[in-house]
Amino acid sequence: MKTLNVVVWNEYVHETTNEKVAAIYPQGIHRTLADAIQKFHPDYAVSTATLAEPEHGLTQERLDQTEVLLWWGHGAHDKVADAVVDRVQARVLQGMGLIVLHSGHYSKIFRRLMGTGCGLQWREANEKERLWVCNPGHPIAAGLDASFTLPEEEMYGEPFGIPTPEEQVFVSWFEGGEVLRSGCCWHRGNGKIFYFQPGHETYPIYHDANIQRVIANAVAWAAPQGRWPGALNAPHAKVAPEPLGRK
Ligand code: ZN
Repeated sequence: MKTLNVVVWNEYVHETTNEKVAAIYPQGIHRTLADAIQKFHPDYAVSTATLAEPEHGLTQERLDQTEVLLWWGHGAHDKVADAVVDRVQARVLQGMGLIVLHSGHYSKIFRRLMGTGCGLQWREANEKERLWVCNPGHPIAAGLDASFTLPEEEMYGEPFGIPTPEEQVFVSWFEGGEVLRSGCCWHRGNGKIFYFQPGHETYPIYHDANIQRVIANAVAWAAPQGRWPGALNAPHAKVAPEPLGRK
């Protein structure tokens, strides 16, 4: 029996327009991520969706069945329909987990859920990145060493325009000296959100064993618990006509 419905969403633009990216991810970043999650969690139902599909592959019916959604976007944030952003936000408030990867920090859905600009500093110069686990007891860090490195990554640096994370799982150092809060957790409504910075498309980041472990851990962590039925449409919960305690 499948125990969790997971959808990996990818804008799937670079892989179809850039030979270097296509060589790293011949079937797209979404396929690599889905295979990695499935490897760690054979009992999950893991599927994919992309921007070019009708309604970006995220119909209401499908989202209603989705328990954890992963989001990779970069060059086409503006092409994501607001109606889809609305329904993803509503599902997060109800309890769907959301894992936002790399340049998804600037996606409509992440900025909507954070309520801040979500900008950061960046530089593309093939720099080494070291990710430090700053919360070793956190389930997303399970099975990792104290730190691990990526030989080449795009630099993302502070200040990162996010609300202060509720839990900080990773902090990254880059060869140029910058640092970033690279693994951050929040709740919105009943839904859990994890932002994880690594994943620039011209480096084989999602083939890295530690990165795959983090993402697989994050999917398990973000699984829904309970549901807020009023999160979608009802701005106010209707209560009994007599206020409690006024007898
Ligand atoms: Zn990038």
